[in-house]
Amino acid sequence: MRRKLAAGNWKMNGTSAALSELDALARAFPSPSVDILICPPTTLLHRAAETVRNTGITVGGQDCHPAASGAHTGDISADMLVDAGANAVILGHSERREDHGEQNESVRAKARAAMDAGLKAIICVGESLEQREAANTLDIIGGQLSGSIPDQSTGENLIVAYEPIWAIGTGKVPTLDEIGEVHDFIRNRLERRFGEGVGRSVRLLYGGSVKPSNANEIFGVSNVDGALVGGASLKAQDFSGIIDAL
Ligand code: 13P
Repeated sequence: MRRKLAAGNWKMNGTSAALSELDALARAFPSPSVDILICPPTTLLHRAAETVRNTGITVGGQDCHPAASGAHTGDISADMLVDAGANAVILGHSERREDHGEQNESVRAKARAAMDAGLKAIICVGESLEQREAANTLDIIGGQLSGSIPDQSTGENLIVAYEPIWAIGTGKVPTLDEIGEVHDFIRNRLERRFGEGVGRSVRLLYGGSVKPSNANEIFGVSNVDGALVGGASLKAQDFSGIIDAL
């Protein structure tokens, strides 16, 4: 049985004052029945980890470098995330693929480093509007899955997030059938590559304009094990509504 997961991606939002939202979230869910993960900006990671210490909430990073250490100005290694209190890291988000030209191969190298360091890698895949309209969605997702996911993946260290680029921050959400089609496809690909045991144990998150008002129906779709939430994870009240729907 896959444990449900509500993951919040704060992206490049939040200074110290934002920790009060995390504190409020921890108070709202003293012993959550689902997994709750918040990925704040790296500057807040250590304090965020302190804020949720001894609660059921965990924290994660939003990226890591494939190397363990070295001359990589501005980068953060997987070990550094662990040291700051993280137990997971988001990798290959479309905003990083776009802003930093990340390709499947580098996402895979980062995921390997993350898994070696003991982190869960949340690997993001998703098509653009153009690709969807050209009926290329499954081809694109298939390529991202085979290119970005490392061989050492297990149900414990891998989480896949399906985030259609056109649904991120737009208020637009695919139909439930469209979400189901992609999640079933991802499950099928994972089972084919890693075998049924591992393939069935990897959690699949949907991301893109998830709100308290639409979370319930999205969580009802087969093979949706939770959500990766951007905007609605910034306020404890909104995120609580999504957690309650899981
Ligand atoms: P929104 O929830 O703001 O659409 O962002 C989704 C996302 O990109 C999470 O990683």
